[in-house]
Amino acid sequence: MTEPIIETADQVIANTYKRFPLVLEKGAGCTVWDTNGKAYTDFVAGIAVCNLGHAHPRIAEAISRQAKTLIHVSNLYYTLPQTEFARLLVAHSFADRVFFCNSGAEANEAAIKLARKYAKDQGHPQRYQIISMEKSFHGRTMATLSATGQDKIKIGYDPILTGFSFVPFNDLDAVAAAIDDKTCAVMLEPIQGEGGINCPSPDFLKKLRALCDEKGLLLILDEIQTGMGRTGKLFAYEHYGVVPDIITLAKALANGLPMGAMLAKEAIAQSFGPGAHASTFGGTPLVASAALETLKIFLEDHIVEKAQETGEYFKAALNRLKDKHSCVLDVRGKGLLLGMKLNQPADGFVLSMMEKGFLINCVQGDTLRFIPPLIIEKSDIDAMLQCLDTVLPR
Ligand SMILES: *Cc1c(COP(=O)(O)O)cnc(C)c1O
Repeated sequence: MTEPIIETADQVIANTYKRFPLVLEKGAGCTVWDTNGKAYTDFVAGIAVCNLGHAHPRIAEAISRQAKTLIHVSNLYYTLPQTEFARLLVAHSFADRVFFCNSGAEANEAAIKLARKYAKDQGHPQRYQIISMEKSFHGRTMATLSATGQDKIKIGYDPILTGFSFVPFNDLDAVAAAIDDKTCAVMLEPIQGEGGINCPSPDFLKKLRALCDEKGLLLILDEIQTGMGRTGKLFAYEHYGVVPDIITLAKALANGLPMGAMLAKEAIAQSFGPGAHASTFGGTPLVASAALETLKIFLEDHIVEKAQETGEYFKAALNRLKDKHSCVLDVRGKGLLLGMKLNQPADGFVLSMMEKGFLINCVQGDTLRFIPPLIIEKSDIDAMLQCLDTVLPR
């Protein structure tokens, strides 16, 4: 069964992904099964998306109930799940208002547009430049790839949009030096995911916040990967004692249904008046009901606290593995956003682990990334690391 599916897919689907030779058919909790019935423990979670695992009964029920009630009417009207979800997001974050869209890139587009418009509304028509970080990842649309600090995703798409400048991550002096009379905002991931699980030094974001305040710049945090409990706090900014002006969310927001969101403080959100920005599908009743149920489960089941605790256990175990294997250069990350940097290409190990029934992935070619559902059990982590121990060279 697997062979014809892969052959057909390779003929008719745009070739933008180098896929693993694996056809996945169903999932439950932290396990997915292929079409041969082989089980895999999932440490990828659809790229940090399915935080409550696969086929969660309450989320399935919420989606099914909403599908039978109302799927979509557009944002010309008020709807209940969207309103209730926004209320909950605002109650549990720094923000006052939420703009809903359908993906991470769209959320970042909204943030970029809002930052530019806010500068104009503040009487700074010349300000449009956003300072971004090297090795950052903000998405694949024209604006968000232009904001991304990795050349490999820009090749072939000239002209890249102007209005973005790049500085090394975690380098406050470089940010200060990059600010000029055109700058309107600084935009970064609190922890870089695609860039190699790069954490800032403890006081970097605090100092950056102070610098932004001094210069009248917005601080935009891309929490698309770090948000929704992934790092052991609901939002990663909570680790660093800062209050951003704008954050963007997507990936895990609706546990697998496509949803993006941009959250902002009132004074800034005011720059998005009627007609200033829009999205047909943004926050449909269907997606919002899944997101609402997800966040309710988070709060009721203390998912974020568990992620923090499991993450510490996981990281300590990764560090023990590092001591055993000289090919491991570094273990990094927070909560259940963890990386293991190797002194050699990591993709072969990803394949070996897959053959042995564990899905992990790799970023930047040499860094294994572990982003399991937040409900992962310590026994699953033990089993995966026992296997990784046999796969990595001594
Ligand atoms: C995944 C990701 C994006 C892009 O999200 P899409 O939904 O794929 O558009 C942007 N920023 C960060 C930090 C991400 O991890």
